[in-house]
Amino acid sequence: PLLGETIGQNLKKTTLKFPKRDALICVKQNYKATYQQFWDQSSVVAKALISSGVTSGDRIGIWAPNRYEWVLLQYATARIGVILVNINPAYRSSELKFVLKQSGVRLLFSDLVFKTSDYKKMVAKVAKYCNELKNTIFFDETWDEFLKSASSVSDEKLELFENSVQFDQPVNIQYTSGTTGFPKGVTLSHHNLINNGFFVGERLHYSEHDRVCIPVPFYHCFGMVIGNLACTTHGACMVVPDESFNPVSTLETVEKEKCTSLYGVPTMFITELQLPNFDDYDLSSLRTGVMAGSPCPVEIMKQVQSKMFMKEVSICYGMTETSPVSTQTIIGTSIEKQVSTVGTIQDHLEIKIIDYETGEIVERGVPGEVCTRGYSVMLKYWNNPKATNEVIDEARWMHTGDLGVMDEEGYINISGRIKDVIIRGGENISPREIEEFLHTCPAIEDVHVIGVPSEKFGEEIMAWVKAKNDEVVTKDSLTRFCKEQIAHYKIPKYWKFVDAFPITVTGKVRKVEMKEISIKELGLESIAK
Ligand code: ATP
Ligand code: MG
Repeated sequence: PLLGETIGQNLKKTTLKFPKRDALICVKQNYKATYQQFWDQSSVVAKALISSGVTSGDRIGIWAPNRYEWVLLQYATARIGVILVNINPAYRSSELKFVLKQSGVRLLFSDLVFKTSDYKKMVAKVAKYCNELKNTIFFDETWDEFLKSASSVSDEKLELFENSVQFDQPVNIQYTSGTTGFPKGVTLSHHNLINNGFFVGERLHYSEHDRVCIPVPFYHCFGMVIGNLACTTHGACMVVPDESFNPVSTLETVEKEKCTSLYGVPTMFITELQLPNFDDYDLSSLRTGVMAGSPCPVEIMKQVQSKMFMKEVSICYGMTETSPVSTQTIIGTSIEKQVSTVGTIQDHLEIKIIDYETGEIVERGVPGEVCTRGYSVMLKYWNNPKATNEVIDEARWMHTGDLGVMDEEGYINISGRIKDVIIRGGENISPREIEEFLHTCPAIEDVHVIGVPSEKFGEEIMAWVKAKNDEVVTKDSLTRFCKEQIAHYKIPKYWKFVDAFPITVTGKVRKVEMKEISIKELGLESIAK
């Protein structure tokens, strides 16, 4: 059944069940807490928040990479009914300003410096323009002082706050990845998030014996829901290797902390598998993991299963707007289904595939737009009713903008985003299909395919290719490779050889940016609409 509780009530339940088991480990900060310790520390943070004067429904921002304080704030804010606004640590001042203003953040938590950026300076620059922002607390600077203020708040007062929280009220605003355009503030409730975390964990068979390696960012639902909430709803331990993704620290952490599960978007697994000393790591503690966020090439799935001991790796498909997971493979299903589909609809949710133009449900096997409905659909986009109404219809179906097919057994295959489909001479071509094919070329490490404007055909296909170390690939060699195996109209006309792709901080390739760059380089501005 669905959990009808708040995030705070659920954490309390887990703490009572497993007080002495590990809850959170942050390797980089040398931090470790059992569930009891984590609960107690989150109480201190919650009291300090109350002491700062925030009340139910206020927005609290966090602009920081992965660190233990992030997780404490996630649970402390939920416990007292304030809304946490996750801010992408890769954002710079103009994006920070946008989010702070758009969501009306009152109190901000931030790092002093992340990577080479001076966060403190940027906050100072932006704060002038954000009237609602009253104060900023910096980790490693004013955090301890902030915690001290907790002593002025009694246990009774904290309880009073906790008892007033309803499970269907907003707890979190997460901005979408911005893969296709400007990020939107997805507003999610306790009910949305806790159930999604719980049911994802169910499909992974999580228990208090699991230790889940989370190298994906907390600011994104992959980290905070599939990661943290799937763990805390099952008593498993969250293991965080580093502030941001690093393939070496990730594999070191799996080995040292004997993790049973490992997360990543496909590009993360690709970089791990490519490490020169990959074979030196002992990954034998792994049994499962999650790959999500963008299409997972079959070849990569196979390597993850065989070389990383993750026989039961699970693919999740979803979006921030659906808390995020809508479909997931089930441990134990046939390898073929596991590698070639994104699984079946999650428990208690509905899915349908519709004809994009008519809105009618299509037959099994026919591609169309994926729509989902149920507890996981967001409350709204924050302060943006127009955008909300564009994606959620009157019957509360969420229109995902993704192109998918459902087979006879209910397995879903996502072929990409509707907007990414290449239309060449009237022929609809799925970039995904060509990417899958090119991944079978032994010299290619990674590849992404886009459409670029063409006078003659409307669009032409372009592939950006990253070759494996020591491999030489050319336009001619790849064209030859394609010619023998795929129809002529699917063979890319343009090839670009790169060392890296433009990506979002969650590791998703930004095709919009690839397109812009390509159009400029190929001198196609005049044909581009
Ligand atoms: P924006 O909405 O700002 O353009 P975004 O859609 O990338 O960014 P997210 O909510 O992080 O933001 O990502 C959801 C999207 O990611 C889905 O709509 C889908 O296109 C893609 N996606 C997620 N998981 C998978 C998967 N397993 N296979 C294929 N695509 C996936
Ligand atoms: Mg989206």
